Amino acid sequence: MAGLLQAVSSAAEKAMDLIYPPSLYCICCGNLIDETRTYDLCDHCMAHIRWDASAPLNIDGMRTLRCVQYGIYERTLIFSLKYNGKTWIARDIADICADRLSLAKEEYDVDFDVIVPVPLHRDKERQRGFNQAALIGRYLGKKVNRPCLEHALIRTSDTRPMRGLSPEERKENVRGKFALDCRYADQITGRRVLLFDDFYTTGSTAAACRSALAEAGPAEVCFLAFAAK
Ligand SMILES: [Zn+2]
Repeated sequence: MAGLLQAVSSAAEKAMDLIYPPSLYCICCGNLIDETRTYDLCDHCMAHIRWDASAPLNIDGMRTLRCVQYGIYERTLIFSLKYNGKTWIARDIADICADRLSLAKEEYDVDFDVIVPVPLHRDKERQRGFNQAALIGRYLGKKVNRPCLEHALIRTSDTRPMRGLSPEERKENVRGKFALDCRYADQITGRRVLLFDDFYTTGSTAAACRSALAEAGPAEVCFLAFAAK
């Protein structure tokens, strides 16, 4: 059964490759590129993206990493993935995350056993058709050979959009809105969890997720966001 599922999913990925031939266009600006470009970015975008390899920040006791600082180029990548349905960008973002993590392991001893993406509320996921954090997390898991527990956390009620809210209002908006699916508890107990999201501003969502994960007693929760302000 597992073999069959694997075959189906790799067939689906091959189909994706046919629909979206990789490495033809820069994922950020759309310029023609060739297959030698790192992360499918042209030289211009590669030079203008604000890469971030700084030491982990401490957010609510969680070691927190980001790959890029949020700006015009970085926003283009996230918006193209989330709102324009260019789901193949998730693969390149996962490659960026994998490199970021390997650097963080070398320099700051950041390591993890499982990946848990920040969930969307199911209505929003249905509307969008996918959860971008889970999509990136799945590719990342394959790349670094760690399981991605895509459904370990549940967003129990929808939250107001965070835009325009103060840090205090953001905290209140997500407080208690995440729960652990107890079927995943034994995969989290005693393990080092990498919580993953595409973006963070104040870290209030990550903190709310960490509270939910704490129910299962993980050894550590680190947080990786692709982009942050
Ligand atoms: Zn470009």
